[in-house]
Amino acid sequence: MPLLEQIKDAGIVGCGGAGFPAHVKLNCTVEHLIINAAECEPLLRTDRWLMIHKAAEIITAVEMMAEMVKASHIHIALKETYRQEIQALESAIAERSSPVRLFQMKNFYPAGDEQIMVCDVTGRTVPPSGIPLDVGAVVSNLATAYSIYQASQGEPFTSKYLTVTGAVTSPCIVHAPLGTSFAECLKAAGGPAAAGCHVIAGGPLMGKCYSMQEAEKLVVTKTTSGFILVPDDAPLVLNHQIPVNVSLKRAKMSCIQCTYCTQMCPRYLTGHPLKPHMIMRKLAYAQSPEDILDDIHVKNAMICSECGLCETYACPMGLKPRQVNIYLKGLLRQKGFRYEKPLAAFRQLEERSYRRVPSRRIAARLGVDAYYDYHIEECQELMPEVVHIPLQQHIGAPSIPAVAAGDKVVAGQLIGSIPEKALGANIHASICGRVRSVSNSEIIICAE
Ligand code: SF4
Ligand code: SF4
Repeated sequence: MPLLEQIKDAGIVGCGGAGFPAHVKLNCTVEHLIINAAECEPLLRTDRWLMIHKAAEIITAVEMMAEMVKASHIHIALKETYRQEIQALESAIAERSSPVRLFQMKNFYPAGDEQIMVCDVTGRTVPPSGIPLDVGAVVSNLATAYSIYQASQGEPFTSKYLTVTGAVTSPCIVHAPLGTSFAECLKAAGGPAAAGCHVIAGGPLMGKCYSMQEAEKLVVTKTTSGFILVPDDAPLVLNHQIPVNVSLKRAKMSCIQCTYCTQMCPRYLTGHPLKPHMIMRKLAYAQSPEDILDDIHVKNAMICSECGLCETYACPMGLKPRQVNIYLKGLLRQKGFRYEKPLAAFRQLEERSYRRVPSRRIAARLGVDAYYDYHIEECQELMPEVVHIPLQQHIGAPSIPAVAAGDKVVAGQLIGSIPEKALGANIHASICGRVRSVSNSEIIICAE
């Protein structure tokens, strides 16, 4: 069976972002295949663990992917500080005399932003609202490449490696069946190391923040990269608790138009017309945000990647241009606005090379630098008694259940399929057992 079919059957989606179905993304012909191994969110260690422990499988998968998309340049982009990972990958490359090349990036945030990576590796700027394909590249996450290796061996996407770290007793990598609860993952890491914590699902910059009570509902999905426990009084948690109406008022009152948010914005530095300080200026003079939606600078909020550098690092007034942009994006979408990809070519700015923020500085600003140097070696294999498998773990339409309550299932069996003619991904049982219930949103399986 062709690899693309295997990827589709296995239900593989991008592991590093919103979960775009991989069989759609990789159905292309490109000059550059770039494997994103930067893992640029501080504290996450999953991709680094995979590079050390699954190097041969990853290089094999990358070669297969390159053949499929007919790429003449094959890169794994990672940070130059990943010495052990580089060594493991170089050994695997040498063993196979592989054409895969490592591209070593500086240790900055957001090195793993797809468009930033394309700019660094190829020197080309992806147009605003465009995709890497527009400049002859496709970017795939490292964990996705590992899943593709498994698919090539006939194994569907049923489990996830993820990092459990922060204020936990034993930070570790967890290998969990999809649908495993957050509580099981936390138990594997020895539980909280301190009283009064919040949980970040994902990375500290772009992840979502939950109270411990809210986190009880979280489960491992195809896009879960980690769970991070953070003390309640960390700046990271406090930032998440500022409501948007407060941010809008503060923007009006306190923006001093220093332009630092724009000067440090990674997308602006690749040559995009995004200028967050101009959006803040428009906001300051408007009666209400609805009044400024026709402004060209405000429309450019649509091309904000939501990386958070402006509010975490750049703004000296503690304002939140990212949150404002997210809010404006919502309003623009409600109005039916679509950002048209410009025809003009864009070029990165010269100052881009020296306006890069070290990852450790970001971690310090967020109050999580105490966990920055954790060396995570241990991997815990989880075998939960119950899994709650969401029918939507990807971009596109939810999967259609292919089982009913009471059915016996084996791990790897198809339990949710892609709706006809829709963008979506198959879903498989992650453990052997019996289906307890099927709803519009999830399938619950109990081990037997
Ligand atoms: S979040 Fe801020 S720094 Fe990041 S792309 Fe958007 S405006 Fe630029
Ligand atoms: S960095 Fe802060 S104060 Fe300066 S222009 Fe941007 S939002 Fe305003």
